Amino acid sequence: MGMGPKVIWVLPNVAQFNKNGRGSFQERYYEAKKLNFDAIEIPADFIKNPTEVKLTGLLIGDVLTREAISKLYKKPSRRISIKIKYILHTDPQARRDSKLKWYNPEWRRKFIEMLNNLIEYFEMEPYAIEIHPGTKPNSIKNITSTMAELTEEFPRTKILIENRTHQLITDAFSMNKLWNMLRQEYPNIVESGRVGIVLDVQQLFTQTGKNRILFQRHLQIIEPEAIFGVHIHSGSRGHHTPSLKDPIPWIDVAKFLNNSLKIKEEFLINPEVHTKSEIQATRLFIERSLLSL
Ligand SMILES: [Zn+2]
Repeated sequence: MGMGPKVIWVLPNVAQFNKNGRGSFQERYYEAKKLNFDAIEIPADFIKNPTEVKLTGLLIGDVLTREAISKLYKKPSRRISIKIKYILHTDPQARRDSKLKWYNPEWRRKFIEMLNNLIEYFEMEPYAIEIHPGTKPNSIKNITSTMAELTEEFPRTKILIENRTHQLITDAFSMNKLWNMLRQEYPNIVESGRVGIVLDVQQLFTQTGKNRILFQRHLQIIEPEAIFGVHIHSGSRGHHTPSLKDPIPWIDVAKFLNNSLKIKEEFLINPEVHTKSEIQATRLFIERSLLSL
C-alpha cells in the first residue's frame, strides 16, 4: 500500500498578523493548530512600510537589527513551549528601495546575520528559508553560491528560492537553468535535498503573459525534482482564493502537483492568501480541485 508523500500545509502570513508590526510566532502557531496546518510562514522582509520605520527608527529597505526585531515581532512574556515547522519568507524585492544584492559578499553576510538574529529571537530553527532572485547585476551564479552559503550557515534548514515575475528566476527556463547549475556546482547539496525551488503559480502565469498554452508548456518542462513546494493563490490584483473559472488553467496545475507528489517525500503547499478568512477556502480548493486527481 503506497503511503504517498507528506504534504506540509503552510499557514500563510495574512494581514491580520501584521497590525502595527509583524505579530508573533505564537499567534500564528495557535491559528495553525486551529486550522490543522503543519507549518507557519514568518515574514522576514527588510523594513517595508512607514509603520515599521516609525516602530524601529530604521529606513525602508534597511536590514533588520536585533533591536528592530524586538520591536517588530511580539515575544510572549514567558516562554511557551511550542513545536511547529516554520518558514522564513525573506524579502522579495517588491520595492525599488529594497534591493537584493546576492553579488555582494558583505551584503550577504548582513542578510545572514539578520536571519541568525531572527532565529535566535524565535528560539527555534526554521524548516526552510525562502529567498527571491532579485534583478541584475545579480546573476544565477550569485544565487546558487548564496544558496550553498546558506546551507552551510543553516545546516538543518532547507534553502528554497521562489520564482518571481521580472526577476532572474521567473519561468521554466530560468528555473531549470538554476537547477542544472546547482546540480553541477553542488551535487552533494542537491543530493541531500537541501536546496530547491518554490513555485508560485500565479507569478509564472503572469510571466507567461497569461497565455494558457504557453503557461502549460512551461509547467511541462520544469524539472519536477527541482520543485519543493508551491504557493497557490489567484486574482490579478491580490492574493485570493482560486476558482476553476480563473484564467489560470488549474487542471494543468493539478497534473503538475500530482506528478510532484509522486516523486517527492515531502511537499510544501502554501495557500498564499492575504486574509485570514480566505485560508480555509483556499485549502479546500487545493484539496478538492488540485489534489484529488
Ligand atoms: Zn508566493
